[in-house]
Amino acid sequence: MAQDNALSAIDEVLNASYVAFLSYKNLDGKKKGAFLRAIADEIDQLGDTLLTTASAETNLPVARLQGERARTTGHCRMFAALVEEGSWVEARVDHAVPDRTPLPKPDIRKMMVPVGPVVVFGASNFPLAYSTAGGDTASALAAGCPVIVKGHPAHAATSQMVADAILRAAKKTGMPSGVFAHVDGTSFEVGKALVQHPLTAAVGFTGSFSGGKALLDYSNQRPNPIPVFSEMGSTNPVFLLPESLAKNYRDTASKLAASITQGVGQFCTNPGLMVAMEGQGLDDFVSALSEEITKCLPGTMLHPGIASSYHSKLEKALAQKGVQVEARSSATATTHQGAPHVASVPASEFLRNPLLAEEVFGPFSLLIRCKDKNELHAVVNALHGQLTCTVIGEEQEVKNYLNVVNMLVEKAGRIIINGVPTGVEVCAAMQHGGPFPATTDARFSSVGIDAINRFIRPVAFQNFPDALLPDELKESNPLHIWRLVDGAWTR
Ligand code: NAP
Repeated sequence: MAQDNALSAIDEVLNASYVAFLSYKNLDGKKKGAFLRAIADEIDQLGDTLLTTASAETNLPVARLQGERARTTGHCRMFAALVEEGSWVEARVDHAVPDRTPLPKPDIRKMMVPVGPVVVFGASNFPLAYSTAGGDTASALAAGCPVIVKGHPAHAATSQMVADAILRAAKKTGMPSGVFAHVDGTSFEVGKALVQHPLTAAVGFTGSFSGGKALLDYSNQRPNPIPVFSEMGSTNPVFLLPESLAKNYRDTASKLAASITQGVGQFCTNPGLMVAMEGQGLDDFVSALSEEITKCLPGTMLHPGIASSYHSKLEKALAQKGVQVEARSSATATTHQGAPHVASVPASEFLRNPLLAEEVFGPFSLLIRCKDKNELHAVVNALHGQLTCTVIGEEQEVKNYLNVVNMLVEKAGRIIINGVPTGVEVCAAMQHGGPFPATTDARFSSVGIDAINRFIRPVAFQNFPDALLPDELKESNPLHIWRLVDGAWTR
């Protein structure tokens, strides 16, 4: 009975979202921008209470949450600026040529329009930046899509506080009621019903492979499948080239140790695999990395489920043939903590055993020891789709391994030279997404202004009288946005 109530509530929520969509989709950039800026302001006004609530629920330190809050309000304001400027609609105008032979050319004008109500699943590891007012929500609202957030139960109070802030912003800026809704629930049936509701037009998700893939499967069971943008696991391999390793092993070890253990390893860009060729440089690197990892203390993980999943996946990985523990934190972890670990395995075993390519979400990294370049190439070839791949090498050395770099472009959405994969800059040029199984659609990014592209679709208007065209396509270009008019960019 309770389940029936929850499901009929979802029906009400989606109906209200759809009614809101019919007016929200037509609002101009200024109005949507004002709404997004008001969301940022309302979140700021929650002050320290938001941070302490989120910290109590997730065990993340307040300082980290301060950064996350700045990122969240920052992307709301970034999308506000994008829609206020307006050229994200990619307007194209092709004028009619009535006297063209043998056939006249009609007047055709095209632009992007919002897809409809979007369901967003809050992520456990980013209670602010990838949750209720996260990048999925901000980009969908910017596009003109109402949003229904399925809050993550691991930070239910934080999610509710942010949802209330969004609702206050909607009211203050005169948005249609139903433009935003927040749904609780810890049953998979709730998530399934949201994805399969006939009025849901798209889905944004960050979390486990099993969760993200399940949502894609729910969509594919619909009579009309919808786009599901699931960001799932990634092992973010780091390739350590020999010359650089021999010279800089200590510095590389300390940077990688920090990246592996940052936030108790609970980042989708955590470097879960390292790949290098046998030699003195590698031995020195392993000793230096071991020293660093031994010193790192265990940290309390986001929720007991994540901690127990880390323990069982780690135990399974370490039990595989050929896997040898190189270093572990010198302190003992409690049940809810994750202790940093690094292990190594010969490339031949890694290539034989698909389990070793799976993400162990937490402060763990597996070093793949290659006999030679051929084995290193075989490892690159065997990689699944990734969010990131990293190459650490001297300038000339990287050039000598250009074929590896080129192969990595086929495997990942972001390739990093001489850096670490953790730390995702929010900017126009960022790509956060990669080939399956890193995400369900490698053509899109969930970070940066291009995240809006997930929730829009192109529509061509043929032979429309000027008065009936959207402002973006009117002859006079009243919004003064950049448009491709008869093949030339004009404003
Ligand atoms: P999760 O299990 O994927 O859950 C995320 C959200 O999706 C939750 O709201 C959950 O619903 C929903 N969900 C999951 N499976 C579903 C299904 N079959 N049908 C309907 N809804 C479903 O992620 P999590 O709870 O954050 O953590 C679990 C594991 O995910 C971690 O141990 C880690 O391995 C991985 N993870 C990876 C990343 C990454 O960025 N790579 C980030 C976070 C977590 P309920 O609320 O009903 O449970």
